[in-house]
Amino acid sequence: MVSLTVYDGANGIGGNKIYLEENGQGVFLDFGKNFGKYGLFYEEFLKNRDTRGIHDLMYLDLLPQLNIYRPDLIPSDLSLTQFPALNVTVVLLSHAHMDHCGNLGVLRKDIPIVASPESIVIMKGMQDTGTTSIESDTTYLSMRQPGDDLGLYLESIASMNYLGKDLYCTEMPSEGLLSFLSTRPGQDAPKARKKLEPSSCAHYTEMDLPFEVSAHPVDHSILGATAYILRGDTTIAYTGDFRLHGKNGESTRKFVNQAKDASILIIEGTRAGPSLGEEKVTEQSVCNVCQESVETSSGLVIADFSARNFERLETFQEIAQKTNRDLVVTAKDAYMLHSVGCVDGVCRTESLKIYKEITNKTRRKWESEVVQKFCDGQYVDHTTIRSNPDNYILCFSFFDMKHLLDIKPEGGTYIYSACEAFTEEMEIDFRRLWQWLRRFNISSCGFSMEKGEGADYNLCFDGRYHASGHASGEDITWIIEQIDPEDNIANSYRSSRVVCQEFRECYPGR
Ligand SMILES: [Zn+2]
Repeated sequence: MVSLTVYDGANGIGGNKIYLEENGQGVFLDFGKNFGKYGLFYEEFLKNRDTRGIHDLMYLDLLPQLNIYRPDLIPSDLSLTQFPALNVTVVLLSHAHMDHCGNLGVLRKDIPIVASPESIVIMKGMQDTGTTSIESDTTYLSMRQPGDDLGLYLESIASMNYLGKDLYCTEMPSEGLLSFLSTRPGQDAPKARKKLEPSSCAHYTEMDLPFEVSAHPVDHSILGATAYILRGDTTIAYTGDFRLHGKNGESTRKFVNQAKDASILIIEGTRAGPSLGEEKVTEQSVCNVCQESVETSSGLVIADFSARNFERLETFQEIAQKTNRDLVVTAKDAYMLHSVGCVDGVCRTESLKIYKEITNKTRRKWESEVVQKFCDGQYVDHTTIRSNPDNYILCFSFFDMKHLLDIKPEGGTYIYSACEAFTEEMEIDFRRLWQWLRRFNISSCGFSMEKGEGADYNLCFDGRYHASGHASGEDITWIIEQIDPEDNIANSYRSSRVVCQEFRECYPGR
């Protein structure tokens, strides 16, 4: 009989780590980072120490108490031998948001990952352009060793190559994908000490799995979201994150049809509560509202949406075209678009401009070797934008506000097209963002600060500017009714007809 253990991800923000086991062999559904739990202890300037491997994460219960982690991340004062050594054959990854993939890096190297080609390249793209940490080791690992006599301090082995993880793709991997996985920008530079040793990447049907697994694309706010159906003694359907109201809602409906024989349904519940009179916001309605705002704007337009929300990027590409402006993205965004293009050969950067930051590009090999190579004539700098602000829509977020000090815009419009603030820290960031906009006389759409009592200002959002990446409560109910999992079997799982893995008000959009 199958056993199902939710090690993390219930009643919280992401962090999904759901284990299914049958006949002594099991699979994890996602292995994400639980931002809610991390936030109890950590913030921007107090982070877990990579130099202590997984010690801090285990001690604070931020990882399940299991013996399934990389030996090179275990310092001498930590032992895992008392914890269950699960026989994990694979992680089935639903998508490349960090709350679903953000702890993959600490798992033993011999535990492979099944993921869509888009999820694989997005994870690698993030790794190539980000700072190295044990948690970001999603597609390749930087192995560590004791750096002190006591074995308490762990450091990267400078002389050892990066080791690619075994990946299995939900579609036949293309040549472009394999080539993208085989190198890391900067590895051929004269002073580079580490190269990437790629591992295997094959179709997932070539794996021996304890269940008969099928992968199904679903719609979400990131490319490559995948639901899974696992058939063994019992049929189990896992949705990951999904929605019906995006441009690819039809793919979710197809999955629902395929999953009708499932006895157990593990479904996300981000917006499982009543809809509280929310209007139905779709990607198309967001497009219309944002277009209207651009049309009535003069001066520079800044569009702020989640970095890997490629669908929203397409929406703004369409708006830019219709309003005779050029869409400008950061070099990092361009690298991510190039990464996704390696899957299907489609060039997504052709009609874009790239913002030329004041930076030393020799330190950003992913930019000098990849973005500059493919988009060389497409760069625009701060002076060009300053001279012709009406010609551009700039894809910036709060964290890019420092570049406004170089552009020095005089007026303009900031369109906030992402989720509402749901933590105190986010509210503080919005108050800072407001100050930045005031400094440059930029008006805002999508969020505002309204005068409250006394000297107070209240943060308000306009829901028309963002379509959630998650299904509405009504759509979740519809899917549960369609799949109609069995009462009697589900009853053994705490008398619930479905295992609703997350109940949360909002979503971080990471
Ligand atoms: Zn997600």
